[in-house]
Amino acid sequence: MDTTTNAIVFEDMIDFRQPRYGGDGKFDLQGKRVILVGGVGCEASDYLEIQECVDSAEGGCVALLPRSSDCTLYDSAVLAESAGALAVLASGPLTNTRVRDTWWTPDSTLVTIPTFSVTNSVSSSLLSLTPSYVDLTANLEVGVHPTYNVIAQGKGGIEKDGAEKRSGSQSVFVGAHLDSVAAGPGLNDNGSGSATILEIAIQVSKIGGDLNNPVRFAWWGAEEEGLIGSRHYVAQLSDSEKSRIAVYMNHDMLASPNYIINVKNATDAPLVTKPGQVVQGMYEDYYNTRKVPFMNGPLQGGSDFLSFLEGDVPAHGMSAGAGEIKTDEGRTLYGGLADAPLDPCYHRACDTIDNINQQCLTDISQATSNVLWSLLNKDNLASFLGRN
Ligand SMILES: [Zn+2]
Repeated sequence: MDTTTNAIVFEDMIDFRQPRYGGDGKFDLQGKRVILVGGVGCEASDYLEIQECVDSAEGGCVALLPRSSDCTLYDSAVLAESAGALAVLASGPLTNTRVRDTWWTPDSTLVTIPTFSVTNSVSSSLLSLTPSYVDLTANLEVGVHPTYNVIAQGKGGIEKDGAEKRSGSQSVFVGAHLDSVAAGPGLNDNGSGSATILEIAIQVSKIGGDLNNPVRFAWWGAEEEGLIGSRHYVAQLSDSEKSRIAVYMNHDMLASPNYIINVKNATDAPLVTKPGQVVQGMYEDYYNTRKVPFMNGPLQGGSDFLSFLEGDVPAHGMSAGAGEIKTDEGRTLYGGLADAPLDPCYHRACDTIDNINQQCLTDISQATSNVLWSLLNKDNLASFLGRN
């Protein structure tokens, strides 16, 4: 982006970024007027000035959206496009102002005009000049692509003739997302989680011949695009299939370089379910016994456990931290740097093998192996977990 007089050049990934959705094709918009939409951009009537611009000699303007939680950025972009906006600039923190693909369903419109998050300072600069104009060039693609989940169901809990050891027995479900963001290789996010559960699956298959309860593993696709793989999986389960999952245990980022051990607090979950709290307690007992410190972050926000909780299946999650800032308490417990991100390479090109903290990976993967092994050998798993 650039302005013609008193030009300010804005930089990709610093001043603006393209949300994961919106914009198809090559765009070269020169000297287009920026209009701050009315209200918060959630109603068609907020775009009257945009429509007037389409009908004027200018032939179209760029819509600037304030940050709002009244509707999704996708909703606003659809309204802007149908009003005739040439592009959308949505102001707010770049990390938060993003379009989630989950807001789009196969029946929804594909927004084809360029849609960008811009920082509040870009938006203030644009608003400080009236009128303000932007040059905007972009080469974008929006499309629908196939993606896959990998699901493995173990034979534990099943007799040689194929009959279940216990009728109606429930599986313990262990998952991690297999995809990474486009910006980097994603070794911590989430090679660490997917490799951990792969190794656990291999070990369980070697030694778990006579387990009391079945185990299921999942490597999710398209988590980074909005939990798409796990949401799809949960959505296609029948109620009786859901009731056969004892608990889902999520693993996302287990080796953050400036780590904490985050045993997620299932009582903070958007939908509280007892089995998640029981699993949380098992991790805590494991760490207490071994005198390894742990912390309790909220079981909220963006990873695949949310798909299960929203689908009414109990869940728990483990993580060593993403872009969150390390607190003084975290520094005291684990060393490293306070006031710095738990993973400075989160969603960046430097999330390579050098971004893996071995101690952290060991401490979490051993805990998960231990908790899982204990669950798989319980005599009455459902009552142990309080699952009904
Ligand atoms: Zn992740």
